[in-house]
Amino acid sequence: VPFDSRDGVIWYDGKFVDWKDAKVHVLTHALHYGSAVFEGERAYGGEVYKLREHSQRLIESAEILGFKLPYSLEEIEAATNAALARSGLVDAYVRPIAWRGSENMGVSAPSNTIHMAIAVWEWPSYFSPAEKLKGIRLTWAPYRRPDPLTIPCKSKAAGLYMICTISKHAAEAQGYTDALMLDYRGYVAESTGANIVFVRDGELHTPDPDCFLDSITRQSVEAIAARHGIKVNRRHILPEELTTFTEAFLVGTAAEVTPISEIGEHRFKPGKISELLMHAYLDEVQPKKVAAAE
Ligand code: PMP
Repeated sequence: VPFDSRDGVIWYDGKFVDWKDAKVHVLTHALHYGSAVFEGERAYGGEVYKLREHSQRLIESAEILGFKLPYSLEEIEAATNAALARSGLVDAYVRPIAWRGSENMGVSAPSNTIHMAIAVWEWPSYFSPAEKLKGIRLTWAPYRRPDPLTIPCKSKAAGLYMICTISKHAAEAQGYTDALMLDYRGYVAESTGANIVFVRDGELHTPDPDCFLDSITRQSVEAIAARHGIKVNRRHILPEELTTFTEAFLVGTAAEVTPISEIGEHRFKPGKISELLMHAYLDEVQPKKVAAAE
């Protein structure tokens, strides 16, 4: 079913509207000038994993673009929980989005209404854990993550996904699952919708997120690794170094932990560490049962 003609409801500016009626005008500022920010969240067992972190990032993403969401952190969390409850789903993908509205056209539209919507849908992992361990194939992206002086790189802003869509389409057209982007200096950055982690000699190596999104999932995986006594090296990584890594995997809310078998000319074999972290992450995201009182 196309995404705009599904059944259900979408939380839209404070109330629930029919899924098919959750629309914007063609003269919406966000459509013309990219003034939208969003989040990608997953609910497991009826709870949004790291809802606080994602909601906080949504607020900050908007602030970086110069607008303030008309809802507090607590209101956003309550709306997200209400949208999840209304969906009737227990395991789901959650997409909050906020954007500048349509009262004024032109680059400058500081008083346009800020709108917000939250849609919830079923989006299971594309691969089962066993399939995931075969690893996905990536190619190099035609675009680089830009210099932080040229874009607001810490905002999860819709406009910054333009080069991701072009890169992902180019990869898919050649039979790959995704594309790996370098940054403006030529260091390894991230894929079009997830951060990347490499393994060498039992340690993790991951690009320092100084010019792209600081993945909440990557932070969770780093914490899990630390608990397992696995050292994490967050640093600049040159593409030439890829020959020295044995395992590689993507980390992101949608991707979770997805092992990689191939990046351009480089080959990887999903191994013990990818498998351990993939399962440990799926365990970590499940709501923790509060121990019954004695
Ligand atoms: N980088 C990009 C470009 C993304 O779109 C995402 C998904 N939100 C990530 C990284 C992963 O971030 P997170 O783990 O916070 O979902």
